[in-house]
Amino acid sequence: MDRLTPVEQRAPGRWQVATVASIVQETPRVKSFRLRLPMWVPHLPGQHYDVRLTAPDGYRAQRSYSIASSPLDAGEIELTVDRLADGEVSPYFHDVLVEGHAVEVRGPFAAYFVWRGEAPALLIGGGSGVVPLMAMLRHRRRTMPELAMRLVYSVHSAEDVIYAAELGGDAQLTYTREPPADWTGHSGRIDGAMIGAAAAALLLDHGLPAARIGPTG
Ligand SMILES: Cc1cc2nc3c(=O)[nH]c(=O)nc-3n(C[C@H](O)[C@H](O)[C@H](O)COP(=O)(O)OP(=O)(O)OC[C@H]3O[C@@H](n4cnc5c(N)ncnc54)[C@H](O)[C@@H]3O)c2cc1C
Repeated sequence: MDRLTPVEQRAPGRWQVATVASIVQETPRVKSFRLRLPMWVPHLPGQHYDVRLTAPDGYRAQRSYSIASSPLDAGEIELTVDRLADGEVSPYFHDVLVEGHAVEVRGPFAAYFVWRGEAPALLIGGGSGVVPLMAMLRHRRRTMPELAMRLVYSVHSAEDVIYAAELGGDAQLTYTREPPADWTGHSGRIDGAMIGAAAAALLLDHGLPAARIGPTG
C-alpha cells in the first residue's frame, strides 16, 4: 500500500512560536500587536488565541486574546491588549515585547460568538471587548461592505477609544465618564434607547422600509 504523503501539522491545538511584526499604541493603556505565524490558519471573526509565557525557571502563565484582524491578513494575526497595572501577562506584552521578539501562541479557538459573514449584525461592546467585534467590522468592510453591520461601543473617555482612526459611520460611541467637549452623541452607559436607535439604523441599512420599524410592545 502506498504511504500517505506527510502533511505538516497546523494549528489549532498546537503551540507555535510567533514573531512580533509590529506594535501600535492604540490608547495610553492599549497596544495592538501584529504577530507573524509559521502555522497560520484562517480564523473566523470572533475567535481568539491563547498566549503562553514561560519564565527561565519554567513557571508558565497563559491567557486568551481575541483576534482583531480580518482572516484576509494571511500569515498574521493582530492581538489588542489592555494593560492591567498589576497583571502578569498584559504588562509583559506592553513593557517587554518589541518588534522581532518571539511569543508562543495557540489557536484559533472559539469561545463566544463568531461571525461567519452570513447575516447582518448589531455588535455591542465596551473597553477591550471591542477587539473581536473589530475583527468582524474589518472583515465585513473588506468582503461584503454592502451587508448591514453596526457597532455600539462604550468607552470611558476620548483617550480610551481603541481603533479610533478606523471607526466610521458604522460605529456609534458612548462616553461613560468624560465625553469630549464638543460631543453631541450619546453619553452614559449603553441603554435600551441607544440599542433601539442602532437597531433601527441597522434595519434601514438592511433595506427595511422606515414605516415598518418601530417599537414592538
Ligand atoms: C476569550 C477571551 C478573549 C480575551 N480577549 C482579550 C483581548 O482581546 N484583549 C485584552 O486585553 N484582554 C482579553 N482577554 C483577557 C485576557 O485573557 C487577560 O485576562 C488579561 O489580559 C489580564 O491578564 P494579566 O495576566 O495581565 O492579568 P492577571 O495576572 O490575570 O490579573 C488580572 C487581574 O486580577 C487581579 N488578580 C490576580 N490574581 C489575583 C488574586 N489572587 N486575588 C485578587 N486579584 C487578583 C490582578 O491584580 C489583575 O487586576 C480575553 C479573555 C478571554 C477569556
